[in-house]
Amino acid sequence: MDYRITIIPGDGIGPDIAEQAKRVLEQVGTVFGHTFTCTSVLAGGAAYDATGHPLPADTVCACTQSDAVLLAAVGGPAWDTLPGHLRPEAALLGLRAQLGLFANLRPAIMYPQLSEACPIKPSVIGSSLDIMVVRELTGGIYFGERGQRTLADGTVQAYDTMSYREDEVERIARRAFDIAMLRGRRVTSVDKANILESSRLWREVVTRVSRDYPEVELSHMYVDNAAMQLVWNPSQFDVIVTTNMFGDILSDEASMITGSIGMLPSASLGGGSLGMYEPIHGSAPDIAGTDMANPIAMVLSAALMLRYSLGLSREAEAVEQAVSQVLDGSWRTRDIMSEGMTLVGTREMGRLIETYITRG
Ligand code: NAD
Repeated sequence: MDYRITIIPGDGIGPDIAEQAKRVLEQVGTVFGHTFTCTSVLAGGAAYDATGHPLPADTVCACTQSDAVLLAAVGGPAWDTLPGHLRPEAALLGLRAQLGLFANLRPAIMYPQLSEACPIKPSVIGSSLDIMVVRELTGGIYFGERGQRTLADGTVQAYDTMSYREDEVERIARRAFDIAMLRGRRVTSVDKANILESSRLWREVVTRVSRDYPEVELSHMYVDNAAMQLVWNPSQFDVIVTTNMFGDILSDEASMITGSIGMLPSASLGGGSLGMYEPIHGSAPDIAGTDMANPIAMVLSAALMLRYSLGLSREAEAVEQAVSQVLDGSWRTRDIMSEGMTLVGTREMGRLIETYITRG
């Protein structure tokens, strides 16, 4: 099969790590007999410098016409003083909106080889961790009515509104159940249904959707308890599905448990198969162009792309397996370096992962 991939290298370390994801994809193509036609386009600061806008129309057009989008990272001090709509980060929000991406998938995976970096005691975390946080991305309190008003007594009051429509909850719930079917078949829906009306609707709709997935075990958890359970007994979770704000907070908490920002990918999905895949870290301007960046989060983002947009689960596993084998082999980039390991740069890490891609 021939797949069209749009790559957005972006800024800072973006081009360094995007190059490694591309070489790994090429190897997957060779080993499994696919063609990945990769087109690089501009977004973020690099796009602003070249065109005066962080998200040129050509970029959006290329993304909508492809099977999936791989984005490295955008942003940096050179563009920090620009007005909000011209800042590199505006490209991310623009892409999510224009591609209709309402589901954000944030896996929190702890590799046993890196367990030393985990801030939680080994007796609690065990030898590995694999949680998928599915966060609603385009609704809830971040998009509700907001403002400030002056009350009769002269006090200024500010407000934000959390609202969800049934269809918004239903589509994210379906995504979460579909994902659970590809994993451990357990979904924990996180809400605050003891207090919030929007959470009561959330719970009702998720429960209704669950009837279409009899193989998946559904449980409900209040968000305060979920925050606690994530550090108390993280391995109890398989898929967590939750609202925009709760997901924002819980996905950061879950990723910190794994210990390394350079290792974690993410995916943003819409109604169809088109998705955007990116590492959770930023553009790391402090190490841009130094061959020090860890390309693994980017390579694992490509693995998520293979699984969720292209339906290539075996190929995704081959990439994840290759990363694991490189870690077994004791090679480390600087951010995950520890005593007795062999330090390698961005390019060498990419090359090593490439060499371990096999049909299994
Ligand atoms: P950052 O994630 O870029 O960097 C934080 C720290 O982690 C730095 O010390 C950096 O060197 C290190 N780091 C990050 N990724 C790494 C990797 N792959 N390998 C090794 N070390 C890595 O966060 P920041 O410094 O707060 O932000 C820098 C810029 O990135 C800002 O302009 C910010 O707006 C932008 N940003 C972009 C995205 C995105 O594109 N999705 C996300 C977050 C931040």
